[in-house]
Amino acid sequence: MIIHNELEHRFMRNIPEKLEPGVLYISMEYGMVSHSCACGCGEEVTTPLTPTDWHLVYDGEAVTLNPSVGNWNLACRSHYVIRRGRVIEAGPWSEEEVAAERARDRATKARYYGGADMSAEVVEAPTSAPVPAMPAQGWLGRLKRWLFG
Ligand SMILES: [Zn+2]
Repeated sequence: MIIHNELEHRFMRNIPEKLEPGVLYISMEYGMVSHSCACGCGEEVTTPLTPTDWHLVYDGEAVTLNPSVGNWNLACRSHYVIRRGRVIEAGPWSEEEVAAERARDRATKARYYGGADMSAEVVEAPTSAPVPAMPAQGWLGRLKRWLFG
């Protein structure tokens, strides 16, 4: 059950120790978003902003968080989506879905962090490639060879 159907967003540098229910605390400095569980159980829900975790969309009025917030590690096991400040209840998690989500999360992180290493190699490659010949040496060289060769 969701008792907080709307979350008021608050941008701040540091997320306070005590979270007010119904408020979505956003720290851009630390890439951290926290709120008190929308079911009202009082548990703190932290959704870090990283390329492989949550993404925040702020349209100037309201905040959207992707993907959904799945509190399968809390007693309430609530699952909801935050769209433009509104809390939309999503289906409960089955054991299979939790296992699938854990596997997906591991695979995404492995791909992302593995991929980052590979792109670093690609960036380095051109510096060790031979410097291309200047065009002048081409036709000028041929002209000199034709004239004096
Ligand atoms: Zn809860």
